[in-house]
Amino acid sequence: MRVVVVGAGVIGLTCAHRLVRAGHRVEVWSRDAFEDTTSAVAGGLWYPYLAKPEDAVTRWSAATYDMLSILSVRPETNVTLRRGRELFREPVPDPWWMAAVPRLRRVRDLPPGYADGYEFAAPVVRLPAYLHWLVDELAAADVPFTHQDVRDLADVPADVVVNATGLGARELVGDRELTGVRGQVVRVADPGLAGWTLDGEHPDGDVYVIPRGTDVVCGGTADAGPDPRPDPDVAAAILRRCVELVPELAGAPVLGHAVGFRPVRPEVRLERVGNVVHCYGHGGAGITLSWGCADDVARLVAG
Ligand SMILES: Cc1cc2nc3c(=O)[nH]c(=O)nc-3n(C[C@H](O)[C@H](O)[C@H](O)COP(=O)(O)OP(=O)(O)OC[C@H]3O[C@@H](n4cnc5c(N)ncnc54)[C@H](O)[C@@H]3O)c2cc1C
Repeated sequence: MRVVVVGAGVIGLTCAHRLVRAGHRVEVWSRDAFEDTTSAVAGGLWYPYLAKPEDAVTRWSAATYDMLSILSVRPETNVTLRRGRELFREPVPDPWWMAAVPRLRRVRDLPPGYADGYEFAAPVVRLPAYLHWLVDELAAADVPFTHQDVRDLADVPADVVVNATGLGARELVGDRELTGVRGQVVRVADPGLAGWTLDGEHPDGDVYVIPRGTDVVCGGTADAGPDPRPDPDVAAAILRRCVELVPELAGAPVLGHAVGFRPVRPEVRLERVGNVVHCYGHGGAGITLSWGCADDVARLVAG
């Protein structure tokens, strides 16, 4: 079958990968280069965040956990498996997505100020290098890439079209349930941190520290702002909170700043309508859901 995947973020590229392996003739069309997508900005931690519904997200996350764990044994994929912990100021129940991880246990040596926490090993993906690896895999399978701003999916000549346009679906298919939730991050040099750390309920907003070997992604924010430029005051506040959480970060050289807009929807849209398979609205968890969703997309493409 001839399949055109529209979108070259983590969702489009992963779907294309699965579809090639299933024996389809696949093309990728995209408005932006993969380095300029929201996916390229992501921290890259496997963690179900700002994505629903809970049952499907748990299933997709579990499948992705397995696939990324397999990829983590190959250094060229830029995927590693790292232990880490999420800390809370109050006791919390088990996370709703707990079934997606093989082993999750309570933190016993809680730092001062925290009342609870859980720790587990999670895949961490270095972006945009991981997207680069996916693109190389597709190129090796002779998948053509076309730079194209699609205005109407009905104009795309294919047996099946996969709509993996992320936030672009808002205009492309007029989806008003889709909103962009702004996230700002700071990248610093990795001083050799062993694991990732999240503060699940910091009173001033999200706090996360995701070491990836060459850099550490420090975050973050989640708001409705429209400005694509990093705000220096927000960056300073992010770094302050991250150093409070992980003091070894103090003085780490800043490598860069970035802003992205998470494609948030009340529920991820993954369904087939005619010859179009929609797969977008993965919120703050596109990497976390990518392989699980691609499996479902491949099933829907096959009919
Ligand atoms: C600061 C930040 C940190 C994050 N951290 C994590 C994390 O640690 N873990 C995690 O799992 N997730 C994380 N996320 C979320 C993750 O980045 C997104 O869920 C994911 O990138 C969505 O991927 P996507 O492929 O759907 O969209 P995108 O990456 O935005 O790609 C969409 C693609 O569609 C193309 N497109 C759009 N409209 C059109 C059109 N009309 N015609 C042709 N092409 C079109 C674009 O050019 C692009 O290629 C983070 C997000 C942010 C902002």
